[in-house]
Amino acid sequence: MNYFALRGRLHATALVLLSVFLFPLPSSSQRRQPAPPPTGPWMNKSLSPDERADLVIKQMTLDEKIAMLHGVGMPTEDPLTPENMPSNRGVGYEVGVPRLGIPGIDMSDAAYGVRSSGANGRYSTALPANVAAAASWDTDAAYEYGKLIGSELRAQGYNMSLGGGVDLTREPRNGRTFEYLGEDPVLAGTLVARLIEGTQSQHVVGDIKHYALNDQESGRNSVDITISKRAARESDLLAFEIGVTQGHPAAVMCSYNRVNGDFACENKWLLTDVLKKDFQFPGFVLSDWGGTHSTEKASAAGLDNEEPGRFFFEAKYKAAVEAGKISQAELDEHVHRILRSMFAAGVIDYPRQRSVIDPFVGLDVARHIEEGGIVLLKNQAAALPLSPLRLHTIAVIGAHSDVGMISGSGSAQVDPPGGNAIAKPGEGATKWMDEVWFPTSPLKAIQARAPHANVKYDSGDDPAAAAALAKTADVAIVFAYQWESEGMDLPSLSLPHNQDALIAAVAAASPHTVVVIESGSPVTMPWAAAPAAILEAWYAGSDGANALGNVLFGTVNPSGKLPNTFPKSEADLPHPTITQPPPAASRFFDGGGTPEDWAKGLPPFPVSYDEGVKVGSKWCAAAKKPVLCPFGYGLSYTTFSYSALTVSRDEASGKVKATFTLANTGARAGAEIAEVYAALPASAQEPPKRLVGWSKVNLKPGEKKTVEVEIDPKYLSIFDEAKDGWTLLPGEYAIMVGGSSDKLPLKAAINLK
Ligand code: BGC
Repeated sequence: MNYFALRGRLHATALVLLSVFLFPLPSSSQRRQPAPPPTGPWMNKSLSPDERADLVIKQMTLDEKIAMLHGVGMPTEDPLTPENMPSNRGVGYEVGVPRLGIPGIDMSDAAYGVRSSGANGRYSTALPANVAAAASWDTDAAYEYGKLIGSELRAQGYNMSLGGGVDLTREPRNGRTFEYLGEDPVLAGTLVARLIEGTQSQHVVGDIKHYALNDQESGRNSVDITISKRAARESDLLAFEIGVTQGHPAAVMCSYNRVNGDFACENKWLLTDVLKKDFQFPGFVLSDWGGTHSTEKASAAGLDNEEPGRFFFEAKYKAAVEAGKISQAELDEHVHRILRSMFAAGVIDYPRQRSVIDPFVGLDVARHIEEGGIVLLKNQAAALPLSPLRLHTIAVIGAHSDVGMISGSGSAQVDPPGGNAIAKPGEGATKWMDEVWFPTSPLKAIQARAPHANVKYDSGDDPAAAAALAKTADVAIVFAYQWESEGMDLPSLSLPHNQDALIAAVAAASPHTVVVIESGSPVTMPWAAAPAAILEAWYAGSDGANALGNVLFGTVNPSGKLPNTFPKSEADLPHPTITQPPPAASRFFDGGGTPEDWAKGLPPFPVSYDEGVKVGSKWCAAAKKPVLCPFGYGLSYTTFSYSALTVSRDEASGKVKATFTLANTGARAGAEIAEVYAALPASAQEPPKRLVGWSKVNLKPGEKKTVEVEIDPKYLSIFDEAKDGWTLLPGEYAIMVGGSSDKLPLKAAINLK
């Protein structure tokens, strides 16, 4: 893991370039000077963002333009300098044009909440991990997710979010799976679009990342992904396409890895041909931290902004412009994209204004999203929900389930209020790649819902002792976890720390065993047949224990469905092992590197995505691999029935519409995610089916609703490499509807063209 080393390198560069000795620090009275209020013809809100940007550009000097193209280091870690002084101590800062009243861009990581709050003495809500939001399949919840992040960023004084991760789960052992929205491009793209809309509704620049195909942490700075254009466009890039065209993010972050030979941040096909031309993305591309490798090549390929430093996009850039190697027009185009995005997001019209975060609003949003994202994987003989009046003794088993719930780490890490719940008193500060537990106690949440029961806790360190406790209890609830982080991949999908043995022992001792999994990635469950019930709770966020308590005791009926396939074993994945980089390609900025090494990058090592478009369930279906839990699967405390499917096409819009009846046939109110899949004509040579739409429907007991799902023709199309565009092939399309990718009771055919 070279993150620290990278940051060390950036520090060294920043220190050389900025040297605080060259810039005397402003006095505290100077520091308090408010930025001049923005004035000038570009403040006319009746003009378009593009017109406004051009008016600013007319007034800018060459140096001011260049200053917009790069960051000034990492204010989180760098010494205070005149340049980073106005920043908010986040991970990136671009200085803006103070002379013209154009504010700086103040960036914070914000995948599932605002990062670095602890170090800054601030409060942030940890939402459930992004994968949990994906499991809710709830577009309104995705908007609320983004909106809360936007509002807390703004309250803390930031005006740009570094979140919106939408790489597909091609490699479920990727340590960043929790930061993403699952394996399916239509699901992930639709949700990230809503998330970005929510964030930008708060006048914060939103971004989506990591563009593209950044699916393993092992050798992430060197790996060269090879994939066909068709497969890329129909899978991973489709998620970005939907995110960009429906969510209108102001920024896209290009990734560390290479794609078909070129680094993503200097890859003309990715940045210009696909993103800027085909998706018509009007915003700006910023590099992942240290992901820029050149000046002229990157600029020509479409990189607009180097982050977090300025090795390639400051002095070298100016020299290239002065030497005529980069044209004025190319420079202006980059500046234009950055400025127009600032106008479009509203960060110039609505300057940052710090305020105090309301933690209760955050807890409500976090709890609500978690309640919708928890997936009930098994519920034999209606073991759940629990009925407090019938329970005298409850055993709560599993590491730290007395004090907290685990979160995902790396640059996404949100700091828990009061520090890590498992740290010793006074040692609460979280560090890079710590296992961080939020102080949301399952034990307390369970006790609160069963006030008359005797609730006993066992850490599970000794499976035999835990089993003995389970034997004495009316119900045993085992909490199992799999922690993951940026900077590492999981060695396997197995639960670590002997937890498989713990669950097997407890379930053997008690037929009333409920297993709660806290994970970002799918886990394997060799013990799956044994417990009565299994819940996937993901990384549950700031109020996770209450959300879980509400589901366990039935105040909330679970309605989440898996956004990732859970395979039976790693052997069933397209790549049974993760290709590891050779030693020369496994490290970066290891302290001895020069800026020239940085420019060259590490030697590439190939990873071929020869599975093509067959990500997750598409792979398992095509390879005929039975799975543990299918994509789109999840149970409820009630039951639903599907009937009366008709499929029609609106000739004007080309949209296909699936109409069907959904009924709640059980005794409880509940929400069902009705999923719509399509099988393309055989000539398409596509996997047997693909998700093309869904609707999450609330139904009272006995209630019936007519549900309509519109299908975008693109989701029925293939990407034709010869014409470099999407094609809807003529022929018969099967439309299938149901509650899980493996259980689609309704089927109808439609002829298109
Ligand atoms: C991560 C990005 C993050 C950036 C800034 C990088 O290492 O890949 O996701 O936004 O750091 O912290």
